[in-house]
Amino acid sequence: MGNTKWIDGVVKEDASYPWSRVQKIYDIAQCHDWISGTMLRDEVACSRLAFLRMHRCSLADISASVLKGEALHETSHTRSAKFSGLYGLRPDMLDLHRHVVIEKKSSANVSQGAVLQLGFYCCLLAGASGLPWHGELYFFHKNRKRFVPINEDFAMSIEESVKRVIALKTAENFPMGIETGLCQGCSEQDFCGR
Ligand code: SF4
Repeated sequence: MGNTKWIDGVVKEDASYPWSRVQKIYDIAQCHDWISGTMLRDEVACSRLAFLRMHRCSLADISASVLKGEALHETSHTRSAKFSGLYGLRPDMLDLHRHVVIEKKSSANVSQGAVLQLGFYCCLLAGASGLPWHGELYFFHKNRKRFVPINEDFAMSIEESVKRVIALKTAENFPMGIETGLCQGCSEQDFCGR
């Protein structure tokens, strides 16, 4: 894949884009089409939580607090349409002109997992389109943005995260997870048993 791309008759160049690693992430995701961006986010938060959800042993669908949270999230903004054929891709918004995936956040306190989730979406879109996609966090309460560029270091972190998710899916033992502040409001407490 070269570094010169065309879209709408305009050449888009990004010589620093880590194409090789991004393509690798895209290829891995295509071979494991059950991987979603939220799995990357969950795995960073708690491996036990991610394991439960990826094996569909989840109470998230019926937890009142989760339903409330999801309802708030869904009504707080309008999502871009899903890209068909790119399983695991569900970004808040896509800027098709700038090639930027936008995730809307209510707070500046963004988890490492949420940033990896955003980066994963960028890699899927870059691999599928051949265009250098980057990320952006939009803090809608303050109308502020933070650009999240895809560079070699970040792409390496995304690849490692994807590999951890794959290892977790095939793990024979229920992971221990970690006791954090997350446990208190965790929707999987009943299944978790910790
Ligand atoms: S209760 Fe705590 S340890 Fe159990 S899945 Fe939730 S966050 Fe992880």
